[in-house]
Amino acid sequence: MFLKGILGVDKTTSTFVVLGEFGRYPLEYFWWQQTLKYCDRLRESTPDRLLYCAYQTQLEMLSVLNDNQQCWLWNMQLWLDDQGIGVLYTNVMCVVASAHASYLESTYGEQARTRSNKLRTYQLMNTSCTTKSGYSYAHQSYLQAITNVQLKQSLSRFKCSNHHLKVECGRHAKPESVPKRNRVCRLCPLRTIEDEDHLLLVCLAHHDIRCKFGQKLGKQLTPCSLMPKLMHSANQKAITLYLVSCLDNKSVLVKPTR
Ligand SMILES: [Zn+2]
Repeated sequence: MFLKGILGVDKTTSTFVVLGEFGRYPLEYFWWQQTLKYCDRLRESTPDRLLYCAYQTQLEMLSVLNDNQQCWLWNMQLWLDDQGIGVLYTNVMCVVASAHASYLESTYGEQARTRSNKLRTYQLMNTSCTTKSGYSYAHQSYLQAITNVQLKQSLSRFKCSNHHLKVECGRHAKPESVPKRNRVCRLCPLRTIEDEDHLLLVCLAHHDIRCKFGQKLGKQLTPCSLMPKLMHSANQKAITLYLVSCLDNKSVLVKPTR
């Protein structure tokens, strides 16, 4: 919740997306890291120490308990098995690095992208999400580069799909969600889905704004541009100002006339 507050997004925003903005992992990975370190201390303790007795007791419990009677060591082994590591690890930080890699694969890997359109969109906009050979998972540079909080939060909300474009509103429409093919832009005659790409790169309603910012953002602002290229631009502040201008223009255009 604290990180969501910094980004200014709704509390229902996907946690993995929020963590992705900060290049962080779920807290449970830190808990397991501490647990593994503690287990190492127990293992390395000498027979004259209480820690040694505690570890021996855990080992004894492990040998007699069944699946319904779990002990602390049993839970740790279960977690290690889930990570595909097993109990014969030698270095805690290697285990944690491996667990982090599993998290990234399950969250951003090929299979995850196939399952979720939202994830695919986020990945296109996250400037450090993946590389072909592995993952580069890092704190997003705009969080430091843009000092104006309102401006920064506007970009955060957009990247986290916390916006009012049809592609997202239609998903949450009541009493039932609008089929994706019907979530089209009403502001221009193109009749295509109003998503992040459409707003920034295609929508004719924002053509004048696109021309105005074209000098700063250059070739990145054409219908043939790709969202990753735009979001990876070094000039994050100019992109955010452009985004806010488009969103403001959209608000004015959709205002009901009296
Ligand atoms: Zn449009």
